[in-house]
Amino acid sequence: MTDCVPLIAGNWKMNGTRASALELTRGLVAGLRERPPGGGSQWLVCPPFVHLPLVEACLREATPEDAGALLALGAQNLAATAGGALTGEVSASMLRDAGCTWVILGHSERRTLLGETDAQVLAKLQRAQEAGLHSIVCVGETEAQREAQRTVPVIEAQLEALLPALQGASPGGLGATEVVIAYEPIWAIGTGRSATAELAQEVHAAIRRWLGTQGLEARATRILYGGSVKAANAAQLLAMPDIDGVLVGGASLSVGEFLGIGGLSSRP
Ligand code: PEP
Repeated sequence: MTDCVPLIAGNWKMNGTRASALELTRGLVAGLRERPPGGGSQWLVCPPFVHLPLVEACLREATPEDAGALLALGAQNLAATAGGALTGEVSASMLRDAGCTWVILGHSERRTLLGETDAQVLAKLQRAQEAGLHSIVCVGETEAQREAQRTVPVIEAQLEALLPALQGASPGGLGATEVVIAYEPIWAIGTGRSATAELAQEVHAAIRRWLGTQGLEARATRILYGGSVKAANAAQLLAMPDIDGVLVGGASLSVGEFLGIGGLSSRP
């Protein structure tokens, strides 16, 4: 069992209008205000780029002294280079300037549908670190890789590609630039087929062992599970000793579901 603060992160993907983003943020803020003092978990939302200013303004209005106190703000991607002539890209420093403190990197949808390579994920992680952004780096196997019993080697190879950046990270440091690992079996993302808590725990334990063999701060590194997490299965997953939080796609678009994942309820 680690003593990491659990992180409950929502990946809104390419969903929502300005109106729905605002409604969702306001609902989450209202629910999170009801948290018992001390709170337990850390909460994060990662809206699409275009909705970041709107969500940031809403969070700043809710807690002017610290916009991320109730709910931190993150992006879903960033450019592998620091700035310049790259039409359509968004840099790490622009995200910082827009009020983001987090970024999701290497999501399987970007790796498999958009051809993102391990080398690009590493470069993006390094840009995030340079800009002072915390990162959630996603790793995970396909169904065929799992069936061929290659889950752990596949994940180890994905992590090994990130070693230069992992070695420079500050695990567990909420105040410093942190790298969180998200184990997301590709066959469980958006399919409604979550890994069982036991199966996820096995992979998380293997990731933590691997971190230890590399001389990294294994116990202080937060490892999240992602893949069809919802209010109904979150408690079981979060009870596992090596699961330090969850990365949530579909269910993060509903105030009630997302708050329910952290054991909270929405305000009527
Ligand atoms: C994700 O996109 O990171 C994810 C886990 O999606 P879902 O929760 O919808 O499976």
